[in-house]
Amino acid sequence: MCQRCGVSYTVDAMIIDANTTRVYCPNCLIFIVDTDAVHFKENILVRDDITGEPGAISYISSGETYNLNGDAFKRLVLHNLTPSEYKILYKKYVEPTGERRFMFLLHDDFYSDEGIAVQPIV
Ligand SMILES: [Zn+2]
Repeated sequence: MCQRCGVSYTVDAMIIDANTTRVYCPNCLIFIVDTDAVHFKENILVRDDITGEPGAISYISSGETYNLNGDAFKRLVLHNLTPSEYKILYKKYVEPTGERRFMFLLHDDFYSDEGIAVQPIV
């Protein structure tokens, strides 16, 4: 159940940062990230999926897990990854499965084949 609005969706996202674990529905998560209503603190013990550097926020929903620094986390939620970020995540999570795996936040409605964001929420 979303801890902001109290509604329960099948795609609620669990966000784990250095301080706590929070659960939000997709709408509230987008609002919170877009307005910086909650400060998410990177966990130094978790490595960023893109850079490999320590310090990441974990996003977990519907079998998808991403560990990203604060800026990339925000871009992931707002469907606005850079092409290189998109390609790294796609190669890491989708390609090894023979492209059978569906990752909602890397959906081809959100990104072109070149990884260009086509529906950014901004
Ligand atoms: Zn909500």
